[in-house]
Amino acid sequence: MKNITVVGAGTMGNGIAHVFAMNGYQVNLVDISEKALEKAIATIAKNLDRMIKKEKISEEDKNATLARINTYTQLEEGVKEADLVVEAATENVDLKLKIFSSIDQLAPEKAVLATNTSSISITKIAAATQRPEKVIGMHFMNPVPVMKLVEVIRGYATTDAITQQIMELSRNLGKIPVEVNDYPGFVANRILMPMINEAVYTLYEGVAGVMEIDTVMKLGMAHPMGPLQLADFIGLDVCLSILRVLHDGFGNPKYAPCPLLVNMVTAGKLGRKSGEGFYSYGHGTKELIIAPTFAK
Ligand code: NAD
Repeated sequence: MKNITVVGAGTMGNGIAHVFAMNGYQVNLVDISEKALEKAIATIAKNLDRMIKKEKISEEDKNATLARINTYTQLEEGVKEADLVVEAATENVDLKLKIFSSIDQLAPEKAVLATNTSSISITKIAAATQRPEKVIGMHFMNPVPVMKLVEVIRGYATTDAITQQIMELSRNLGKIPVEVNDYPGFVANRILMPMINEAVYTLYEGVAGVMEIDTVMKLGMAHPMGPLQLADFIGLDVCLSILRVLHDGFGNPKYAPCPLLVNMVTAGKLGRKSGEGFYSYGHGTKELIIAPTFAK
């Protein structure tokens, strides 16, 4: 695989493009928004500068990496020579089904189609194509250039050969791939989201405050971030939608999202990206919020 197309140039798409280009792959980055593409290239350049400062790469490496990335607003142009397409567009099931149906028609027959979805069924996405055996989950973690893990998710029809090819490719990117099967939340979010939900319940029931809950998990369990701070970082809307996927997918009430989480999302308190969640990010630094009425 030499030519990689990344569809969606947001938070994850720019990181995925960065990592492929830095490892010598030719990258076509596609987004419907010209502005998102410009921002993505600026972000990649800034992150490469940071790596130069840390003496991890040279100025020439930076220039060569940037030279390997081309940007497109037309999907057709971006995928026509792809060996692999990694889709990292907005997390919306109808949108992804539409994108995969189009990519399937526009990309070469041999191309493998991967998705970076956090929660949507790979099997469902694969069913929107005529090549379900070549569709796979490639779940990178945020921030992509830093985080080692790639959760490689086999859909119901994904072949062993394609799975091994993607495992090998992930290793070539300096990542550590882990193979998992396609069930709601895969492994990462199936375990992480109930923990975050339980932390919100603990707050909701007044067992402890935000700081206390995060401190217990940081100092007691050696987590680098407490679960409420992590929820703010991921986005409370994203956490809620993944919990709903788990709840619907398994039909088990243990995944029911905490009413406080639902209320906060309804009120537009989405965490870091909206400036306020369990903490406030108004001045660029995190401050504790005591706002939720149920909380101590
Ligand atoms: P984002 O909102 O930052 O970026 C999404 C991008 O997709 C936007 O630039 C948007 O313009 C573009 N887009 C929308 N429709 C498109 C289309 N039809 N064609 C091309 N581009 C289109 O989102 P993100 O946080 O980068 O998430 C992308 C994917 O990665 C989602 O599936 C998400 O679940 C997954 N993911 C996110 C994280 C995270 O921490 N943010 C972690 C792991 C996986």
